[in-house]
Amino acid sequence: MNQMLVSDLLRQIRRSWLARISNQLGRGEEGRELLLEELKRFFDMLIQAVESGDPGWLNPILIDWASSRTETDMSDEEITLSPVLSTIVIETTSVARDELQDDQVLDLLEVLTPIFNYSYEQIAKHEALVRIGYVSARLEKIQMELERLDRSKSDFIAVAAHELKTPLTLIEGYASMLREQVLNEDKNETPLVLLKGVDNGIRRLGEIIDDMIDVSMIDNDMLSLNFQPMWLNRLLNVLKQEMTDHVKERNQILEINDFPGSNEMIFADTERIHKALTNILTNAIKYTPDGGKITVEGRLLSGFVEILVTDTGIGIAEENQTRIFEKFGGLGDVSLHSSGKTKFKGGGPGLGLPITKGILEAHGGSIWVESDGCDEENLPGSTFHILIPLRKEPPDDQVAKLFEATSDAGQESIQ
Ligand code: ADP
Repeated sequence: MNQMLVSDLLRQIRRSWLARISNQLGRGEEGRELLLEELKRFFDMLIQAVESGDPGWLNPILIDWASSRTETDMSDEEITLSPVLSTIVIETTSVARDELQDDQVLDLLEVLTPIFNYSYEQIAKHEALVRIGYVSARLEKIQMELERLDRSKSDFIAVAAHELKTPLTLIEGYASMLREQVLNEDKNETPLVLLKGVDNGIRRLGEIIDDMIDVSMIDNDMLSLNFQPMWLNRLLNVLKQEMTDHVKERNQILEINDFPGSNEMIFADTERIHKALTNILTNAIKYTPDGGKITVEGRLLSGFVEILVTDTGIGIAEENQTRIFEKFGGLGDVSLHSSGKTKFKGGGPGLGLPITKGILEAHGGSIWVESDGCDEENLPGSTFHILIPLRKEPPDDQVAKLFEATSDAGQESIQ
């Protein structure tokens, strides 16, 4: 069969071929326009392939099509280009039948069939290559994430050991001084002062261990909340009292403003919200130089109350603004870790913000930070946004539990 003749036949059906296939495959006006251009390119290459007898002419366009798949396509195992090619094959036959004589149709298909077969093979091959590339890139990403996690885990062990060791050394010191005193009847230090030192060490140890327990509960979705009526303005007043000494020590100003919604009664786990806000405030004090200011304000949103804690501190680099809420993500230089809770930049075990986030999310709220970067000279400051749902009733399961408890008590009294 003369190749030139077949390419002439193809040219004869070009117009209907383009119209039919772009209608079948194109979604929407814009999609069809784009597709039409691609189909024209395909058709021209098909003619070249027929005339030269080399199906390889179609390769560039097939590779382009296989490579232009988006990430979403890639994650869906089922989607391949074969159905597109099948539509092209079926419609080519159908258009040829409509527009050509029977023997011409046969001639055309005889030449086109091997070209189409070749195209199927090429598409399968390139799609496999693209998929392998995609999967390896994902694997590489996962590998990097795992390595980062592994590194932060060992950092955490180092920091946790250091954090636990410091109060322990303190306790050992005071305890040995007490022993000396008892043995030598040394009256220089009263036992009460020494015992206070021991107490402080024990309290700090307890706090660190509580944080570790909280993190593991949050991790395993086991943080159970004890919903009670809560008034934010009262809670913030308590916090202001508790922070007074730290703020004074650092010569800072802590301004807590009333705001719409702060006097509303909402159901929340007061103790845990207290802990979350304490973490944010101690951080604000910690990462703001002496003489700085911390402001707490808020606003009422639909279904939520938003608290904003703004400081005039060193700020947070953009790349760290999500990481600090991840477990172990906030671990900085291990050598900076100190047990001074509000000492300037004194790093902690890096569990405060992950716990805070866990507590807020367990309530159905959220937390994020805004800052123009970290700069110890220009002090851009940070603003933490805290969303707490305006829950006017305790959540269902708690009501259910309460109901169960009262009906159980009723049963018992009947028996
Ligand atoms: P840490 O125990 O280290 O304070 P957190 O989870 O409370 O752990 O905080 C994680 C990190 O987030 C801190 O080490 C610090 O780098 C950063 N950070 C938190 N709050 C602030 C703030 N107000 N200003 C600047 N940096 C902050």
